[in-house]
Amino acid sequence: MFELTRDTFHDESRQGEAFATIAIADTSKKKFYIESYGCAMNFADSEVVASILIDQGFGVTQNCEQADLILLNTCSIREKAELTVRKRLTEFRGLKKDNPGLLVGVLGCMAERLKSKFIEEEKLVDLVVGPDAYRTLPGLIEEAETGQKGVNVLLSREETYGDISPIRLNSNGVTAFVSIMRGCNNMCSFCVVPFTRGRERSRDAYSIIKECEDLFANGYREVTLLGQNVDSYLYTNPSPQVQKGTNSATTFALLLEMVAKISPLLRVRFSTSHPKDITDDVLFTMAKYENICNYIHLPVQSGSSRMLQMMNRTYTREWYISKVNRIREIIPGCGLSTDMITGFCTETEEDHKETLSLMEYCEYDLAYMYYYSERPGTLAERKYKDDVPEETKKRRLQEVIALHRIQSLVSMQKEVGKTARVLVEGNSKKSDEHWAGRSDINKVVVFRKSNNNLTKGCYADVLITGCTAGTLIGKSLTPKGE
Ligand code: SF4
Repeated sequence: MFELTRDTFHDESRQGEAFATIAIADTSKKKFYIESYGCAMNFADSEVVASILIDQGFGVTQNCEQADLILLNTCSIREKAELTVRKRLTEFRGLKKDNPGLLVGVLGCMAERLKSKFIEEEKLVDLVVGPDAYRTLPGLIEEAETGQKGVNVLLSREETYGDISPIRLNSNGVTAFVSIMRGCNNMCSFCVVPFTRGRERSRDAYSIIKECEDLFANGYREVTLLGQNVDSYLYTNPSPQVQKGTNSATTFALLLEMVAKISPLLRVRFSTSHPKDITDDVLFTMAKYENICNYIHLPVQSGSSRMLQMMNRTYTREWYISKVNRIREIIPGCGLSTDMITGFCTETEEDHKETLSLMEYCEYDLAYMYYYSERPGTLAERKYKDDVPEETKKRRLQEVIALHRIQSLVSMQKEVGKTARVLVEGNSKKSDEHWAGRSDINKVVVFRKSNNNLTKGCYADVLITGCTAGTLIGKSLTPKGE
């Protein structure tokens, strides 16, 4: 796997991150420790889990050695992600030996995929809880405390955790994820998500707006609306904007507009879009509101129509290209990122060349590139032979990465000389004398702190004077003293 810089959806630098806040840690009797892996949905779910446990009187710790309950919120998307969790579990054996009362739980997609088999395979695991069963955690913990194993991997057609206010842990206080839907009805043949996160369901629009309003009131200045397929968001009760007594539904375009209207100072992002579902309505809404960021994560997965058909992506290469053209027509300069898989079943050199040529056409700002790893239980595992040799998959991946490196550097260089509106997220990682934030099109921007009143959560106009492969470097144009 290769990653150039961070993404709003799958942030490689956050894998295995432990959540904590000092204030909560001080007041607790029993403490839980939670580590998260995978996509932003999992990180957002860990905040829901934290809220449920804190409501039950638990405190939180960032040190697993002090914990009474260790939770790993896991990902199944690739074999490597699962191996990381297995390895991590072995590291808890010593802790359990020293503290026999310690409970270890596995949450998320891996729990859902392996179910009680997990407990057979990993003897130290006491709890296995799927993504739709977190409300039952307190009962399962009680059960596990009596020496039984607590398992609940039931998937739900309704659960959205809409009424639970997530506890923002490890937050920069400026940007937050807000889950708007769960599950996925698409059956991409390579993907395990429909089996681990269940059917698609949209969260009540009122609770989403309320959560965003609360975040804004608490100083947050950017929300990322999250879902496996946000464009198919559909809440069928009347929304606050729809008159009582009518049956109109809240579409994703309407939801975006409602969030954007909370305040022009609240930036709105979203992830992930399926190319077949993103509508002109969404694009026009993005174009209409300045605070909806001009950036779309539009996974393509392959540039070959034959591969796309086998992947069950329900669009062709030409259809995808026409969607990219439409985005650029309605939102000129819109940032675009993608996911790409090399070496899917039966992929030929010809298919691979089509992937490279599609990348040349689309000029992605950012790409998440992987070689195909067959996942048990998927349609592809059942229907196709994983027949591309590993060295071929890896060589093709290297070619895709090499092309993307060139393209992403060009995309950074294009910004030099322009002025970017940057939401300041905090100090730059490398120097306390520099601020770091992101531009509207999701580029990381670093600039020297000058003698003005800028703080975290402020917007700054920054003249871009240079760049590296992953960062724009600039100079604040905000006058001194403002
Ligand atoms: S859209 Fe496809 S790749 Fe994305 S979560 Fe759904 S099934 Fe998986």
